[in-house]
Amino acid sequence: MSLAVHTSDLDVIGAGFVHLDYAATAPCVRAAADAVNALLPSYGSVHRGTGPRSQTSTLEYERARDVIADFLGCRPGDQVVFTRNTTDALNLLARALPPGTTTVVFDGEHHANLLPWPNALRLRAPASWAEAVTAAERALRDLDGPVLLTVTGASNVTGELWPVRELAEVAHRHGARIAVDAAQLAPHVPVSLAELGADYVALSGHKLYAPFGAGVLAGRADWLDAAPPYLAGGGASAHVGDRAGDVRWAAGPARHEGGTPNLLGAVSLAAVCAALVEADRAALRAHEQELLAHLREGLRRVPGAAEVSVFGTGSERVGIVSLALDGRDPSAVATRLADEFGIGVRAGKFCAHPLVRRLSGDSAGCAGGLLRVSFGLGTTFEDIDRLLEALAAL
Ligand code: PMP
Repeated sequence: MSLAVHTSDLDVIGAGFVHLDYAATAPCVRAAADAVNALLPSYGSVHRGTGPRSQTSTLEYERARDVIADFLGCRPGDQVVFTRNTTDALNLLARALPPGTTTVVFDGEHHANLLPWPNALRLRAPASWAEAVTAAERALRDLDGPVLLTVTGASNVTGELWPVRELAEVAHRHGARIAVDAAQLAPHVPVSLAELGADYVALSGHKLYAPFGAGVLAGRADWLDAAPPYLAGGGASAHVGDRAGDVRWAAGPARHEGGTPNLLGAVSLAAVCAALVEADRAALRAHEQELLAHLREGLRRVPGAAEVSVFGTGSERVGIVSLALDGRDPSAVATRLADEFGIGVRAGKFCAHPLVRRLSGDSAGCAGGLLRVSFGLGTTFEDIDRLLEALAAL
């Protein structure tokens, strides 16, 4: 396919907004909408029925799984389970852990990767990649039994990348596994289970330009196959006897996908993944980094606004920046940006309360959290300039 086709596949639908809240929900790209429209005429049940609608729908659903497995660099034997979103995917993994598993998690995580874990050992978010690795090493070497280290790929607060590859090495050296919350990483950076050496990865379609309600948990099959089904019901059961409890659960991803699945969510997400695989992601990333540099430089000139960071200003990031506002309520600023300038950003604690509390310090003006700017495909220098001008005017 030509680059022109790929470019239009990744065109954002809906012009005229200065939407700088991609980290919450990214706009829909053409590939996702086209995939939905193409399937609607033959839309039908998945894995339930023999008619042509059902056959096409089942085929497309399973094809979507394969495309996403490729996109995520799955290894032979890895599973791709469709979920509702990242929260759902991580909760599924949390319920599939072997009995007695200890989980190790840094407190800089989004609540979706902080709250689901049983028997969790919480480590303080480190000040550098090296500290993260040392802290993980120290925690993991003392643990027995099954252990899962779980970490974000990119912070939803600061946009900073975490040392996933290095943490995967540490985890494996100590016989532990690692899960990666890729909700904010996958939209910006290629994510490969094989290359990262990660055991599991979770993501959300609506942050990956496919806002039709699907998410994914991908990774090692053994724990998933051995676990009770996440949702007990039709689709998850292979045989149900007459007596209560006489059930043989399905093997493979179906075990955790009880009920009729979200076909359009899966297919639209796969369409975006396929378009991204074909696209020049290095060029997309380089463009995003130029926008980011422009944004950060402009923000440095906004009085009373200070960018927050876990690993320091020089750390590698995706297109997300959060600001502590000296003496200003971020919600009030976000509301004025929307009402007076038509600009969408996010204010608050972004479902990462421990981290945002720490990053915003004890300053009274930061009680309402931070102001977050996030962007991606379709964002222009003009969008960034409009924000900077609006902030200067405020
Ligand atoms: N992890 C991270 C890093 C996130 O940014 C988010 C969403 N803000 C989530 C998990 C949860 O995603 P969802 O709301 O789609 O479940």
